[in-house]
Amino acid sequence: MPGDDVSQSEELTIGGYCSHCRKYHYLKAGKARQACMDLMASLRVHQRIDFKVPPHQGNPQCGTDYLFGEARGKMFGALVGVDEHGREQTFYAYCGLYNGLWSVADWVEPVFDPVAFINVTLEGEQEVKRLTREINRLPIQSDQRKELVQVRRRLSRQLMQEIHGLYRVTNFRGGSGLLTEIFSGEKGPPTGTGDCCAPKLLQHAALNNILPMGIAEFYWGKENASRSRQHGFFYPSCATKCEPILGFFLCGLENDVP
Ligand SMILES: [Zn+2]
Ligand SMILES: [Zn+2]
Repeated sequence: MPGDDVSQSEELTIGGYCSHCRKYHYLKAGKARQACMDLMASLRVHQRIDFKVPPHQGNPQCGTDYLFGEARGKMFGALVGVDEHGREQTFYAYCGLYNGLWSVADWVEPVFDPVAFINVTLEGEQEVKRLTREINRLPIQSDQRKELVQVRRRLSRQLMQEIHGLYRVTNFRGGSGLLTEIFSGEKGPPTGTGDCCAPKLLQHAALNNILPMGIAEFYWGKENASRSRQHGFFYPSCATKCEPILGFFLCGLENDVP
């Protein structure tokens, strides 16, 4: 079974540099590894991600056949933590959208408010499309066309800023900030930053007084185009989008590499 592969047995850890503490904070997989194995078993048996509801109430969009088609597979993650009453709790997340769905019952929500996100993007994208149709109707060298291209550019930039404004994140020190502010890379955060499993799970934990004890992520479905992700294998959180924000997210958990 892929999840039991020997090369996969080493301790998984996520982490990142925290500019507030000037330290590298980390979190090990711990019990989240087994939680992921349990989740893999459920996905294998039920073939859908809304397996906690009876089959006749299931959403057809939640079938795992989606992960084996053109869209290819996806990262899934688990966080095991302790709530304020000392009870152990397990939470699950999928990366990004699942077949068009930001929210599915029994999975943690995105780091932003999905309703606000849909309102902002729908309106904005419709306006961008309307402008594009208008632009395409005008002669290429016309001043009116050049003007509209500028309008569209400004609108796209404004839309991007509005979307970034929805990504307000919180950590275990009580700190909060926009992803664009806490991202520790040279450039701004790439598209999709904050949508991976680790930030979703950590944000959920921080907002619900859950003290994380472990976190792990695995890939499920058809291998990705570059074949760097294979069905049923564990992977560390991604270097481009997650590592530059995980130092912030993990701040306050007292797990540091000096
Ligand atoms: Zn990531
Ligand atoms: Zn810190």
